[in-house]
Amino acid sequence: MKTNESYVKLTEKFSARNYHPLPVVLTKGKGVWVWDVEGKKYLDMLSAYSALNQGHCHPRIVKALNIQVKKITLTSRAFHNEQLGLFLKKLCTLTGYEKALPMNSGAEAVETAIKVVRKWGYYKKKVKKNRAEIIVCENNFHGRTTTIVGFSSESQYQDGFGPFTPGFKMIPYNSPQALKRAINENTVGFLVEPIQGEGGVIIPDKGYLKECYNICKKNKVLFIADEIQTGLGRAGRLFACDYEKVRPDIVIIGKALSGGYYPVSAILCDNRIMNVLHPGDHGSTFGGNPLASVIGIAALDVIIKEKLSQRAYTLGDWFRKELRKIKNPVIKEVRGKGLLVGVELKEKARKYCEKLMNLGILAKETHEMVVRFAPPLVIKKKELQWALVRIKKVLHV
Ligand SMILES: *Cc1c(COP(=O)(O)O)cnc(C)c1O
Repeated sequence: MKTNESYVKLTEKFSARNYHPLPVVLTKGKGVWVWDVEGKKYLDMLSAYSALNQGHCHPRIVKALNIQVKKITLTSRAFHNEQLGLFLKKLCTLTGYEKALPMNSGAEAVETAIKVVRKWGYYKKKVKKNRAEIIVCENNFHGRTTTIVGFSSESQYQDGFGPFTPGFKMIPYNSPQALKRAINENTVGFLVEPIQGEGGVIIPDKGYLKECYNICKKNKVLFIADEIQTGLGRAGRLFACDYEKVRPDIVIIGKALSGGYYPVSAILCDNRIMNVLHPGDHGSTFGGNPLASVIGIAALDVIIKEKLSQRAYTLGDWFRKELRKIKNPVIKEVRGKGLLVGVELKEKARKYCEKLMNLGILAKETHEMVVRFAPPLVIKKKELQWALVRIKKVLHV
């Protein structure tokens, strides 16, 4: 009875049909490897969309969690807890921001940034009541709340979910000119992914982020980087914005901030922006709880101590070079930064992902035509070599 199929059936019977997972049922994970209920071993090359940069069940995080889980796990923010300050200090010290505000999911952190930016707009920039505009990019992915899908360009994300929150203006990605044109006296922020991950690993031109940042600065518009997927080492730097020496006014992080244990997200900015929030303006029952805080601390420690950004940079470079050696007319492009790698095909990628699965590699298509390879950053070169042998088998003509 312990077959993948039986669990898939059970899950499908009771689950909403909002996902279309590969038919594999995982029961155990260690580092870059996972096992299904039938005992088959796979290399995880998705890392839960980059939430597992530290690998599955990292012992350092397990240890921190185990200690805290027996002590106290939730206080709510009605009281202080001894871990939150330590977590926020670690975050701010590492990233060079004055303040951090913890949440749980990525979408919640994006919502938090939207609220902070709007309030900053009204109270600091003096935008007229209810006129604030935030500029976003086509092909974006910032999460799934009603406000956020309201400024998606993906029709499926919106279909059936309106009416949507006003106050967002959409421009093409990778066009500083479009940003310049879209800004008016009501513009309070520009929300952008340094690399569009869900959008198909789309990398903007060199200098794009810097130019946009400068345009924002000149026009008193806050530059908000959604680094939920690209940040914390994934793209080969602590933040993908670091490549262009851009220091966003607000950075949004999530995913790997939890090391895969428990949802932990945050926004980072300086006092001049965060100070617009007052008691009662915003909150979350679980955000910043002591368990999340120790997990966050340990997750950051792993990223620093194991030099995950540098590993991602070096290994990602090498991995892409190897992928580019695969000659097959179905491959349109191999691109990426660090260990966020996309192989764009000229046909639907799902069937390739299924073939990879059969050979022991878990990867997922994104935007239909792109196979995304984003293994945990603790991966070793010889494990990537192991993967390449199999990827070549699937992609070679
Ligand atoms: C995953 C993701 C989000 C949403 O995070 P959730 O934790 O799923 O809510 C937002 N922005 C980007 C860029 C992401 O990759």
